[in-house]
Amino acid sequence: MPLKVWMNGKLYDRAEAKISVYDHGLLYGDGVFEGIRVYDGKIFRGEQHIDRLFNSAKAIALQIPLGREELMEAFLETLQVNKLKDAYIRVVVTRGVGTLGLDANKCHEPQVIIITDSIALYPQDYYEKGLELVTVSTVRTPHNVLSPKIKSLNYLNNILAKIEAQQAGVIEAIMLNKDGFVAECTGDNIFAVAKGRLVTPPPDAGILEGITRQVVMELAEKDGITVLEQQLTRFDFYVAQECFLTGTAAEIIPVVRIDSRQIGEGVPGPTTLRLLEMFREETRSNP
Ligand code: PMP
Repeated sequence: MPLKVWMNGKLYDRAEAKISVYDHGLLYGDGVFEGIRVYDGKIFRGEQHIDRLFNSAKAIALQIPLGREELMEAFLETLQVNKLKDAYIRVVVTRGVGTLGLDANKCHEPQVIIITDSIALYPQDYYEKGLELVTVSTVRTPHNVLSPKIKSLNYLNNILAKIEAQQAGVIEAIMLNKDGFVAECTGDNIFAVAKGRLVTPPPDAGILEGITRQVVMELAEKDGITVLEQQLTRFDFYVAQECFLTGTAAEIIPVVRIDSRQIGEGVPGPTTLRLLEMFREETRSNP
C-alpha cells in the first residue's frame, strides 16, 4: 500500500500529493518546516518541534491555518494510516499560491503538508568509526540577513556548504559565522569535549537551536557533566578530546577528523558513547 501524505486536512496517495507551481514555497523558498522523530509510536519532543514551527512561521509573518493540537492530531492520524511506529515526520507549511511577484499578501492559503516515512540514517559505519568534517568557506547566514533560528524552506546556505564538503571528499561541513567562530554543521549542531566538559556554540553564534542539542545538554547535566555554551573557534575543536554532532535524524554521531587533524584518539570517545547510550534510553522510554 503506498504511503499517504496529509495535505490541508485530507490524505492523498504519495503520487497524488501535489502542490501548485505557483506556490511561493516552490517559487521563493517561502515557508517553514520541521523534521520530527517517532520512536515506537511516540512522537519525540513533539511539543518543542511544534513550538519551533510556530516560531519560525511567526518570524516570517506566516499564519499557520491550524492550531497546535490539531497539528499534533494530524501527525498521529498520518502515522496511523501509514502504520508507522519508528518513523520520521516532515511537516511543511508553505506561503501558498501567489503571483509571480514576491508579494506575500497575494498568497491567501498557506499549504500544510505532513509526510511520514521510514527514517534514513547515516550508515551504521559512521556511528562506529566516526565522521570526518572539513571547514567550508560558505558562511552561516547571519542574524541580520536571515535568522538561522528560522527553519525555513530556503536551505541553500546549508546546501552550498554541504556541496563544498562533498567536493573535498567528506560528507559533512563545519560552517563558521561571519566573525569566524564555529556555528554548526549543515543539518546538525556541533559539540566538543574539552577538559572533561561539554562545550557547544551558543545560540548567538548563529545556529538553529536544535532540539537534539537541548536533549543532549540535559542528559549531560543529569550525568554530572558540565555543559558550557561558548564561542568556539576551529582551534578549540582541533585540540578537543572528542567531537560529535546532534540532530533529529542523526541523533548523536561521533566526529574523529576535522580538516585533516585527528580528534582525540581518532575513535568515538567515552563521553560521546555514554551520551549516545543515554540518548537511546531516553528515546526508547519517552512518554
Ligand atoms: N542545524 C540545522 C541547520 C538543522 O537543519 C538541524 C535540523 N536538521 C539541526 C541543526 C538540528 O536540529 P534538531 O536537533 O532539532 O533536529
